[in-house]
Amino acid sequence: MGPPGAGKGTQARFVAEHFGIPAISTGDIFRANVSQGTPLGVEAKRYMDAGEYVPDEVTNLMVRNRIDEPDAEPGFLLDGYPRTLAQVTELDGMIAFTGHQLDAVVVLTVDPEELVQRLLQRAQTDGRADDTEDVIRRRQEVYAEQTEPLIGVYRERGILVEVDGVGEVDEVTARIFDALDVVPQS
Ligand code: AMP
Repeated sequence: MGPPGAGKGTQARFVAEHFGIPAISTGDIFRANVSQGTPLGVEAKRYMDAGEYVPDEVTNLMVRNRIDEPDAEPGFLLDGYPRTLAQVTELDGMIAFTGHQLDAVVVLTVDPEELVQRLLQRAQTDGRADDTEDVIRRRQEVYAEQTEPLIGVYRERGILVEVDGVGEVDEVTARIFDALDVVPQS
């Protein structure tokens, strides 16, 4: 977890690679559907372009199908899911069914103003449609309203791992591995 631009996608790949499990990014799956023009992509794009969350029913079904894939059987890392309290409940149900358990929830913390600057930079390099300043600010609001409350939920469960997301990419990776008690691979 972490606000937009905190570096979730980048760090998720390193962590998943370390554990030999897939990094499942709901944002990436939505973007792939948008670029392929699938019905899911057409629906998701309306929300994404406005900086809003795609409705829970749509997102939940997509995640359920993805974690049913054989490569997720040994375990998986979710990047950008759950993002609402309803998704937390849904995920609990899904993994109770598949026999998985949540080992850790990693939250990257970064100052919001620094994030706007990072995202505006990413807009120049990646050209994401939702990286304009207005949409970035709306995404931050939506994160604060709908996703931040999840931090307390996972803290109470004792599986929250908070990591300072400010710094070079490899510094942040080292902090995550440290917090997860992982010996980094050379
Ligand atoms: P991300 O790449 O994680 O920043 O996601 C990009 C956009 O995809 C978000 O701003 C949402 O519109 C949508 N999205 C990704 N994950 C979710 C989710 N778990 N629930 C609802 N919408 C999502």
